[in-house]
Amino acid sequence: MTSVKVAVRVRPFNGREKNMSSRCIIEMQDNMTKITDPDSGKEKKFYFDYSYWSHDGYTEDSEGILSPNGPGSNYADQDKVFNDLGIGVLDNAWKGYHTCLFAYGQTGSGKSYSIVGYGKNEGIIPKACREIFERISDARAKPSNITEFQVTISMIEIYNEKVHDLFQPPNKREKAGLKVRENKGEVFVDGLKKVPVESYEEIEKQISIGTSNRTIASTNMNSTSSRAHTVTTITFKQTVMENGKPTNQKRSDINLVDLAGSERQSGTGATGERLKEGSNINKSLSFLGKCITVLAEKSTGKSKGKVVVPYRESQLTRILQNALGGNSKTSMIAALSPASVNYDETLSTLRYANQVK
Ligand code: ADP
Repeated sequence: MTSVKVAVRVRPFNGREKNMSSRCIIEMQDNMTKITDPDSGKEKKFYFDYSYWSHDGYTEDSEGILSPNGPGSNYADQDKVFNDLGIGVLDNAWKGYHTCLFAYGQTGSGKSYSIVGYGKNEGIIPKACREIFERISDARAKPSNITEFQVTISMIEIYNEKVHDLFQPPNKREKAGLKVRENKGEVFVDGLKKVPVESYEEIEKQISIGTSNRTIASTNMNSTSSRAHTVTTITFKQTVMENGKPTNQKRSDINLVDLAGSERQSGTGATGERLKEGSNINKSLSFLGKCITVLAEKSTGKSKGKVVVPYRESQLTRILQNALGGNSKTSMIAALSPASVNYDETLSTLRYANQVK
């Protein structure tokens, strides 16, 4: 694995932050992101592959009230984010690499907006699905084409370290969740449905089934979806056929991961089940960070001797084991709130992103 591509993306102020007269503590210029401690005024600078601003820049008046102004150089809409990150994921899939793209950040910071999108503001998953089928139909249209393409999709939710198939309605799920197994070095989720899809319309239909089966739909609790990791995996196979026989096959798993909210659980007064959920989330996010860092150090030769990648420490890293190590590429979008009320969480997201880059 070569180095991990990391983008940070700041969302606009929300109503609550505006009502609290929260100040903007993030500034961006080129690939630099600066955060200012609202109490001490101390600044910290971070550098990532991309720093995305979502609104057209702000000016602050003498009372600290913010108003939007002209387009800043860091402004990025859904198309720009897809062109920078999504296209690379598809290019790698075409070359036969496994890929992982994660969205990390506290609840409400914009993870789902980037990965899935809302309404017309389509995120990376729908855009990637469209592009996959466009590329396939372009390739098939070429008279010289001898490649066969197969696309399948699966969706899982990891909630409280239990793995659930999102193509299975919640009332039909095994309470204990699906088992993760290994066969000849390949890790797989036993019994997971992988649905073959032939067109954008078919894959879109499957995604909407999966999305409606998320825990949020069954409990109607908004906070629940943010406490689960959602992994959408598109498996893309290319088989070169010569004289009716397969001569070469490439397979790529494209994993698009909307992570559970990264907010710290200690100090929130959570007890019982909630505390357990919280510590499972913190644990899996922290091991994800460790796996990515260890793999990056291994590939750059920074760490010597036998290196242990802690895949087995959480279900998330275990399931993504094939796609994180070896023949694979990883990228991450760290989602940020611009507001001073979220300073601690935003700083912690920036530190996490900095650690994995
Ligand atoms: P999360 O998945 O991290 O919990 P969401 O993606 O649901 O957060 O985002 C919270 C809210 O902020 C949503 O209403 C979403 O539309 C809005 N939002 C997030 N990111 C952006 C952005 N880059 N531009 C515009 N609106 C955004």
